[in-house]
Amino acid sequence: MFSALRSAARSRGYVTATAVNGFTEAVGNTPLIYLKTVSEKTGCKIYGKAEFQNPGGSVKDRAALGLIRGAEEKGLIKPGGTVVEGTAGNTGIGLAHVCRAKGYNCVIYMPDTQSQEKIDLLRMLGADVRPVPAVPYDNPQNYNHQARDYAASIDNAIWTDQFDNTANAHAHYISTGPEIWEQTQGDLDGFICATGTGGTLAGVGKYLKEKSGGKTQIWLADPPGSVLTSYVTSGGKLVERTGSSITEGIGQGRITNNLGTFVKELSGAFTVPDEKSIAMVYELLDTEGLYVGASTALNVVAAVELAQKIGKGSKVATILCDGAYRYQSRLFSKKWLKAKGLEDAIPEHLKKYAVL
Ligand code: PMP
Repeated sequence: MFSALRSAARSRGYVTATAVNGFTEAVGNTPLIYLKTVSEKTGCKIYGKAEFQNPGGSVKDRAALGLIRGAEEKGLIKPGGTVVEGTAGNTGIGLAHVCRAKGYNCVIYMPDTQSQEKIDLLRMLGADVRPVPAVPYDNPQNYNHQARDYAASIDNAIWTDQFDNTANAHAHYISTGPEIWEQTQGDLDGFICATGTGGTLAGVGKYLKEKSGGKTQIWLADPPGSVLTSYVTSGGKLVERTGSSITEGIGQGRITNNLGTFVKELSGAFTVPDEKSIAMVYELLDTEGLYVGASTALNVVAAVELAQKIGKGSKVATILCDGAYRYQSRLFSKKWLKAKGLEDAIPEHLKKYAVL
């Protein structure tokens, strides 16, 4: 009887998992979702790695676990210690979960421009959240520098330093990359995603490039206001950061250690306008039943564009970073869309989803 039920579940596509030990072992092993509608529209095969299925709800659970494990392995933190980070949200949420699961204190410095949902969640997870003014990286009051200085000022504390501590990219090199490789049986023409720290792109990209012997092209997608596209397309010129985007958690003004020299191995980069990203949030909901955040939508727009560049029949994968739950008071609010001048970006037949 049991096995008949199991095989019925399997034949209907349910994942049949074995038991894992706690939050930390539940990170990773996410499905790779074939995105049928966007694929059929383009005559290509577009896949999204369902990172919103991680137990803390985002791609950053992997980085959070990698950063804390790395510090533990080096003996930098002892039981009862404090983890301090500067984060726009998802890394903090991942860290807060891992800290609860492992018995550490968690202190999060974040720019005060982030969504209320993320701040509330961090507080509910027991983190000490310290919103600070959103000032550029070269300002000593930047949230990253404040996190570093606070960690240095107390005992048994680490600053996980997600931007420049390469335990972040390494987590993706040993987990996300190999999973995508296995899930596509190594038959992948391209991988593309946006970057915040660069950990996902460099970790996954490096693994896929090595494993495929360079056959899988790795591309970067940028939101407006990020300097990385111009850095890549100009052959390494870093310009001043100007402009902004509705996408949270992505875009960068410098070459982080996590992106590091891998930036030179990219096949290319391009920017996705907010109009296209917000429309894709609604399209993925309407056609795939996927409730995702704006960075995910940007990634899917970029994956479609890359597949079209590579050619008909090509296979391209990207990252479905997190769910829309963290941003719904913005993304599905008519008032917010209007304030951002994005009302007309939503196709008429999808406007019914803006219910807030
Ligand atoms: N999407 C979201 C929603 C994020 O929070 C982040 C991380 N800040 C990313 C994408 C980018 O990931 P990474 O830091 O690995 O570049």
